[in-house]
Amino acid sequence: MLEQSNELSAWDRDHFFHPSTHMGTHARGESPARVMAGGEGVTVWDNTGKKSIDAFAGLYCVNVGYGRQKIADAIASQAKNLAYYHAYVGHGTEASIRLAKMIIDRAPKGMSRVYFGLSGSDANETNIKLIWYYNNVLGRPEKKKIISRWRGYHGSGVMTGSLTGLELFHNAFDLPRAPIMHTEAPYYFRRADRSMSEEQFSLYCADKLEEMILAEGPDTVAAFIGEPILGTGGIVPPPAGYWQKIQAVLNKYDVLLVADEVVTGFGRLGTMFGSDHYGIKPDLITIAKGLTSAYAPLSGVIVSDKVWQVLVKGSDKLGSLGHGWTYSAHPICVAAGVANLELIDEMDLVRNAGETGAYLRTELAKAVGGHKHVGEVRGDGMLAAVEFVKDRDDRVFFDPTLKVGPQIATALAASGVIGRAMPQGDILGFAPPLCLTREEADTIVAKTADA
Ligand code: PMP
Repeated sequence: MLEQSNELSAWDRDHFFHPSTHMGTHARGESPARVMAGGEGVTVWDNTGKKSIDAFAGLYCVNVGYGRQKIADAIASQAKNLAYYHAYVGHGTEASIRLAKMIIDRAPKGMSRVYFGLSGSDANETNIKLIWYYNNVLGRPEKKKIISRWRGYHGSGVMTGSLTGLELFHNAFDLPRAPIMHTEAPYYFRRADRSMSEEQFSLYCADKLEEMILAEGPDTVAAFIGEPILGTGGIVPPPAGYWQKIQAVLNKYDVLLVADEVVTGFGRLGTMFGSDHYGIKPDLITIAKGLTSAYAPLSGVIVSDKVWQVLVKGSDKLGSLGHGWTYSAHPICVAAGVANLELIDEMDLVRNAGETGAYLRTELAKAVGGHKHVGEVRGDGMLAAVEFVKDRDDRVFFDPTLKVGPQIATALAASGVIGRAMPQGDILGFAPPLCLTREEADTIVAKTADA
């Protein structure tokens, strides 16, 4: 067994080009490599048998937990009956149609259609193209710029990597930043002047957005994209009043709003969608991750009736939509989606995400919130973060080269709990499966305090 795993590990280092990995240290065997082998509920294990609580649900995606027979059965049955057929020119399967209906039934008011893709990134590429198409149909071809936020995460494709507001994801690639711009991150703890209340900081963010729209020219700004709660940028809930103030500006200048709900869709905040949780009224919604709990890759764009009416007019003028993926509405993936959404209801996971998530944050705050190097314990629903600082009173941050956050995440992982060192800042993030129990939350908290 040991020999076999040594061989596997050598093949891994020699042939497997891992995403988001330091290529040199991995290839030279200087950083840990782990071969994952199984999972059940919130627990995963590797091929040496070491078990861990996965307090990040993979990449905040395994919302129903691991090892769910119902989804595995749905996948197997679809694979046997009809593993693939495309969705072009009006084709579908029972599962793709059912899933579209189930999504619209659960979506915020005013949503009408679902366009399926495979990843959050490709869904946001679809969003960008639909926004451009929309304004072409409306006869305003200049209205094409898209405003995103610093610290937003929207994917790592060519355009979606540009939407992402984390420098690691664009700097080294010379991505085509135009026609994408970034505005202020709604990050009260780091960005607000200390004299400001949350409401004042929200107003400041909305004013910055308005200044940008006016400087660029409202006739050139097509859309604004944001996650209801910043995810990969640090798990940062919006300051009080933020979305109301932002939406007032967008409405004033006829700018579409895209809610990127890749993390928050299907229950993570204790409501089916984050938009409902924060009173957001989006024109387009990005979904992925929780749609299938990552049992199969599937994403989608939920299109509002307002946008849909314009798209229909467009096709009457321009013909069929020139945008499609081979695997749009892949039968196996949508079958997984149907079973997953049923399971979320059957297991009452949306309620549990709200209740047990709040318990996790409260207990985390009790256990580590008073530590002199903890600046903030924050989150919402089944999302939590601990931000480490050098000096909490003066909000002095650690030198990033010390890698304080990553070192704590590594110590935590060694003790059998997987959290995530968020990519920018010393922030330890938690996004457990929505089925987390209080006992499991207690273990996460105790091991975090030890780490
Ligand atoms: N949007 C958000 C909010 C995300 O968190 C992510 C992935 N973490 C994406 C988009 C991109 O999804 P994918 O990795 O599936 O392309």
